[in-house]
Amino acid sequence: MSRPIDALLQEQRRYPPPAEFAARANVDDPDVYRQADEDFEGFWARWAEELAWFRKWDRVLEWHPPDARWFVGGRLNASVNCVDRHLATPRKNKAAIIWEGEPGETRVVTYQELARQVNRFANVLKALGVRKGDRVTLYLPMIPELPIAMLACARIGAVHSVVFGGFSPTALAQRIADSGSRVLVTCDEYYRRGERIPQKRRADEAVQMAGGIDKVVVVRRTGANVPMTPGRDLWWDELMASADPHCPPEPMDSEDMLFMMYTSGTTGKPKGIVHTTGGYLVGVHATTKWVFDLKEEDTYWCSADIGWITGHSYIVYGPLSNGATTVMYEGSPDWPDKDRLWSMVERYAVNIFYTAPTAIRQFMQWGEAYPRRHDLSSLRLLGSVGEPINPEAWVWYHRVIGGERCPIVDTWWQTETGMILITPLPGITVTKPGSATRPFPGVKAAVLDEQGQPVPPGGGGYLAILRPWPAMLRTIWGDHQRYVDTYWSRWNRQTYYPGDGAKWDEDGYFWVLGRVDDVMNVAGHRLSTMEIESALVEHPAVAEAAVIGATHSIKGQVPVAFVILKSGWEPSEALERELKEKVAQVISPIARPDRVVFTPDLPKTRSGKIMRRLLRDIVHGSALGDVTTLRNPEVAEHLRQAFETAA
Ligand code: ATP
Ligand code: MG
Repeated sequence: MSRPIDALLQEQRRYPPPAEFAARANVDDPDVYRQADEDFEGFWARWAEELAWFRKWDRVLEWHPPDARWFVGGRLNASVNCVDRHLATPRKNKAAIIWEGEPGETRVVTYQELARQVNRFANVLKALGVRKGDRVTLYLPMIPELPIAMLACARIGAVHSVVFGGFSPTALAQRIADSGSRVLVTCDEYYRRGERIPQKRRADEAVQMAGGIDKVVVVRRTGANVPMTPGRDLWWDELMASADPHCPPEPMDSEDMLFMMYTSGTTGKPKGIVHTTGGYLVGVHATTKWVFDLKEEDTYWCSADIGWITGHSYIVYGPLSNGATTVMYEGSPDWPDKDRLWSMVERYAVNIFYTAPTAIRQFMQWGEAYPRRHDLSSLRLLGSVGEPINPEAWVWYHRVIGGERCPIVDTWWQTETGMILITPLPGITVTKPGSATRPFPGVKAAVLDEQGQPVPPGGGGYLAILRPWPAMLRTIWGDHQRYVDTYWSRWNRQTYYPGDGAKWDEDGYFWVLGRVDDVMNVAGHRLSTMEIESALVEHPAVAEAAVIGATHSIKGQVPVAFVILKSGWEPSEALERELKEKVAQVISPIARPDRVVFTPDLPKTRSGKIMRRLLRDIVHGSALGDVTTLRNPEVAEHLRQAFETAA
């Protein structure tokens, strides 16, 4: 029987909302939590009233655990909500998307222009035979055609399946085949770190492997000469030139599918997560407005890729349904230099910036000089998503990027949850570095033990969501049983199991401790990787750390740490001893790593999460598991060698 997770790291720093921020915040009354809790269906219905419906819902929620239907009987269209309804307001000529290409060119797409492009492409899709319910795979880099294609699908009721533009042909082929798409949208090439990435060539390979694709629409991004298969491949610009800019929106049932999206594959083979229209839109609309404290005049920038759920919910649907100006960047953060993002923050006077802990640790490693080159005073709110954020990285982000003036929202959620579920509300929440704080109003969460009992404050266990929420996944594409088994079978059919370990404290704050799969068992103590990693990152030499449990004949498991040093530091035995000592001091002697392996890089998914399961494979000398979602497949092999030579 497994015991709760031993949560050992203590974090005492507190950051109340700055007074000037709180005075203007969208949410300034802590009573929202109580009100939403008393009648959570009513709470979500009030948010739904902010959207445009062809037909209002009859019932807010039908809950036949684990199957939920939200806004039952309602009809709406996501593209109408993200585009059309802004055209009759002063937002008509407002920038919807400010885009910057890696070589430096910019495009500003107003809501009016977005409407014309979306309508045109919707007609293009129709002319290609795409009908309501058909899946369309989008394999594009971060260019405006990607959100345009997504919204065009939504307009005619087609289901988009966005595959991250950096994925290999194999990964793309698997996703095309699994979704059963007949149409693929891609581009000739795109820019990354000054190079031209041959997207069309990779798409061709995937189409060959997957079968089933009849039409490939190709956006001209670099203008390269790419092979076009007659009868199958068509140029985006040629199709758009002759397409009618008026396409009536399909009145979608609230529960009709909006899109599918594969998870990151951090813990195993990616799952095709299904999201529907009404609930999803309500959930992302509400969270965007409250979590990011979005104001009409804000310039908002989420630096994620649209190929991840974060981009779907918080670059496209949430910001556009709120009529915001959202920034998109095509390329690499270190091109032409490591200050690219800060240069953009300065030039566009970005107010809200949302990124991932892995990026923050990268900025720390590069050093403060890069952000210091720029005026970042336009920023008023910062966000983090994707992994637990180590307290040291949080404090650095707050000080160096946020100038100690910007609240930080550490937002916990998943592809499956569709929307942010645990997060500060920046005008009212006192934040603690490393804690995602409290469930969003209307959301109910807990930390449970194996038996489904809440653990006492200060204790660790499994994160659980206790009631349905509007943007929740409805199924896994083609495998409803797997949906039931994976998410709703740990305790009972009404409690959602996200697969993350967590602790909660006396204030009811949640601290996500990482994946349950990553928890290790050392001499009877269940230790979280995140806490040991955070202790390591506190050392001035350490930029990034990944800890796994290695099999040990006596203790069961022992922690092994993989460490990336900051520039200016060299690996040494003395440093290894120092780092082990640091963990023993900060956490406990039982958490002391058995080994510290210095490495220049770590295996990461395309969304930047460390893939600890591969590190376990390396340490145990077993065959590497699924690597199709890895950003840097070569790193795993280097590490294996480094590990073996060091042993
Ligand atoms: P797979 O499910 O295929 O293994 P994945 O879980 O990495 O992949 P995502 O849906 O992209 O795919 O990631 C969700 C996970 O990211 C969460 O379950 C959690 O572990 C982690 N996460 C996201 N945001 C936070 C956060 N703010 N704090 C802690 N962990 C977070
Ligand atoms: Mg997951």
